[in-house]
Amino acid sequence: MDADAIRSAFLTLMESTGHEQIQRSSLIPSDPTTLFTGSGMQALLPLLLGEPDPRGTRLTDSQPCLRSQDIGEVGDNRHTTFFEMLGNWSLGDYFKQHQIQTFFLFLTDVVGLDPLRLYVTCFIGDRANDLPRDDESAAIWKEVFASKGIDAGIAEIGSAAVGDRRGIADGERIFFYDSDENWWSRGGNLSSTPVGDPCGPDSEVFYDFGPEHHDASYGLPHPASDGGRFLEIGNQVFMQYQREENGAFSPLEKKNVDFGGGLERIAAAALGVPDVYRGSLLAPLIRIVEDLSRTSYANNPGPMRIVVDHVRGAYFLAVDGVRPGNKAQGYVMRRLIRRAITTAKTIGLRGQFFAPLVAQLGTIYADAYPETATRGDAVLDSLLREERAFHRTLDSGLRTLRQFEGRTLTGNDIFTLSDTFGFPQEITVEESSRLGIAVSEGWETDYQRRLMDQKERSRGSSNLGASTTPS
Ligand code: ATP
Ligand code: MG
Repeated sequence: MDADAIRSAFLTLMESTGHEQIQRSSLIPSDPTTLFTGSGMQALLPLLLGEPDPRGTRLTDSQPCLRSQDIGEVGDNRHTTFFEMLGNWSLGDYFKQHQIQTFFLFLTDVVGLDPLRLYVTCFIGDRANDLPRDDESAAIWKEVFASKGIDAGIAEIGSAAVGDRRGIADGERIFFYDSDENWWSRGGNLSSTPVGDPCGPDSEVFYDFGPEHHDASYGLPHPASDGGRFLEIGNQVFMQYQREENGAFSPLEKKNVDFGGGLERIAAAALGVPDVYRGSLLAPLIRIVEDLSRTSYANNPGPMRIVVDHVRGAYFLAVDGVRPGNKAQGYVMRRLIRRAITTAKTIGLRGQFFAPLVAQLGTIYADAYPETATRGDAVLDSLLREERAFHRTLDSGLRTLRQFEGRTLTGNDIFTLSDTFGFPQEITVEESSRLGIAVSEGWETDYQRRLMDQKERSRGSSNLGASTTPS
């Protein structure tokens, strides 16, 4: 099954079990305190906190998400800034039994994943806060694995660090981790769960690509390790507690389920390939970049991933009405576009290349997100306009850089090029080496010092501004 088929099979399965398919939210949330929609549940939070909803108690969707906080991870085989999250919610309706059974059935019988490659995690409990181990979820997992003839062994891990030292033993399939791994609250971790909020344990599902994909520098392999063997494909949050004034956790009367699964990751598992960029939503973009740069993905996975991820992220931001700018969402969009272009240069993609990628994105998403087509012209126009403008910036920076031929470029020069001409420092260094311009050793120290000075000055001037502002 490719990603399109997985998305529609999921929504069909959910509808057949009484879920109302809801409209996806914009990437720009209505809550102005957050820049982007980063999960399916974000827009549904009021309902999960108890507000009634006319659409019923069972909801589902596939939600486009943007996590700018993951930008540093892009380049690995599993993180993208933009991705789709398959979601289903029970608002005081079904709980663990139905959720775990249905998700397992979806992965094995619908998508066709080998159940022997599925590993799951549950909450180990927290004695200090009087929270029991989530034996209920573990027992349901045991039962569903048994239905496929699998005797799922249970392992008590605790922290991920213990897991790194311990690894996994034969037959183990259900892993208990502490609240850092398997607890959900709006505050992030268990101790920062806000008073009055619903919260609870979660149970995650991992796909095992095989021991040959593990990077031993992470310690021994286990599901919560980032070592590469296991990929988290879905997370089921069971909201069953509420935090009291005195800090204690009391059982919630109306329990909720919040499920989120990464579409691109489930598609990678369906292919049996530990790389979300090989899936049907991203591979066509990679092929275009391969053709245009005349280099292969196998030789340049990192930069090619950054290029296609960032163009796709900027594309969906444009679809949702964002335009490149110097603030908020527009700034992130501009950063994605510029980083795509500067990264493309490192693999020999020098000219403009957005047009064919944007056309391909239109084809990929036409059915699932018809708004990509109806807003297509404006989207294309805004992306190409920004691409052209940044190319002009780069061209003039390059002309300035050429004036340094025969001289040695210092950290000060590199700073001036970036500060005055908008020529990014990594490009300066790369282009210098291409043009045979020497760069002074230790340039980074000078560059950083200038950067700090500048920050210092702008802080000083803004303080001054505050103190002289008439009240
Ligand atoms: P990870 O630890 O791998 O970064 P996460 O714990 O941040 O994942 P959740 O917040 O639980 O993930 O999101 C639910 C699901 O969304 C995950 O199980 C995963 O399948 C998917 N997902 C999360 N972040 C990304 C990303 N940056 N790119 C692609 N898929 C993602
Ligand atoms: Mg998680």
